[in-house]
Amino acid sequence: VSTISVGDLARRMGIKASEVISALMRLGVLATLNQALDVDTAALIAADFGYEVEQAMTEELELEALQEQESEMGGEALPRPPVVTVMGHVDHGKTSILDAIRKTDVVAGEAGGITQHIGAYHVQSPSGDLTFVDTPGHAAFTEMRSRGAKVTDIVVLVVAADDGVMDQTKEAIAHSKAADVPIVVAVNKIDKDSADPERVKRELSDFGLIPEEWGGTTIFCETSAKKGIGIEDLIESIQLQAEILELRADALRRAKGTVIEAQLHKGRGPVATVLVQEGTLHPGDNFVAGNYSGKVRTLTNERGEQVQAAGPSIPVEVQGLSGVPQAGDEFVVLTDEKMAKSVASARQLKARETELASASKVSLENLFEKI
Ligand code: GDP
Ligand code: MG
Repeated sequence: VSTISVGDLARRMGIKASEVISALMRLGVLATLNQALDVDTAALIAADFGYEVEQAMTEELELEALQEQESEMGGEALPRPPVVTVMGHVDHGKTSILDAIRKTDVVAGEAGGITQHIGAYHVQSPSGDLTFVDTPGHAAFTEMRSRGAKVTDIVVLVVAADDGVMDQTKEAIAHSKAADVPIVVAVNKIDKDSADPERVKRELSDFGLIPEEWGGTTIFCETSAKKGIGIEDLIESIQLQAEILELRADALRRAKGTVIEAQLHKGRGPVATVLVQEGTLHPGDNFVAGNYSGKVRTLTNERGEQVQAAGPSIPVEVQGLSGVPQAGDEFVVLTDEKMAKSVASARQLKARETELASASKVSLENLFEKI
């Protein structure tokens, strides 16, 4: 990584070195005239003065280039399990459907199923593998999307057959449409006397979710999470929708994914659940996750077991981060530890600059208020 001295940078921009030094101070960097600045810091300062450094995006571009280069080492893109989010109005049976699907898991066996909440889990059912993202509420779904992350391939919309389309049903439809994620409908509680699945179909048709038998393309399944009816059919329908989407990933390249949730554990330090979307993640891998870098110390699945690999569509809890990233942050494996660290520190610097900029804007506004 190339560097430039404070003096040189000032000269090239045709401004006083002292101005560069005070700009650096605003970023929390104490610098002297001869101090060597890395490209990102120089770019930030230059941007401050309205200049664009040719290598301004160096780290980001290098990151992309590295990934591209590394992807060439990969293999073939093969079908991957769908990643699913269950949505719907409160009490229509989301939790019950998830529980019913989890019961079909052939791996959980007697060792017990999911032992810890990591925000996502993988189920191997006889009708196919699938992964659920189980972050609380629609907010997580939309927030991740607003951060540019796309983790959900398919939304399962749960609508109680006795209740029909309600406010949160409409919300879920709006979110799914905005994210361009196809919906598989689970018309739930069909065991109830008051169940009226035809009414649900009519109501949903008004929102463009038209069942196949009416000439539309939306898959409808009738379920009773309580009685365990239609669950296999629902899983098969999700697989069918996944086939239509032609979900594929190359498991042989370096891993790339999205942070689903992250927190600071008292004993274990920063911990993040990562949904691997491409490649395979291994212990020892160097990575960047949002503003932080790290080296994978351990990978833990939803059953609390340590694993040696996590491939496409597999969620794992990662230990070995230098800080706590945000949900929706990109997680990228790099061969070079130094590169990972410098990308992270450049991002931290940028984040700090943005923070400072908004802080000074606020104080200016306050100032004007007082005047
Ligand atoms: P959520 O708020 O969408 O997660 O809904 P829950 O899964 O917590 O279910 C709400 C209530 O509906 C609970 O009392 C469930 O037992 C009940 N319930 C869920 N699925 C069914 C079903 O298929 N049939 C019947 N009769 N009740 C159900
Ligand atoms: Mg629930």
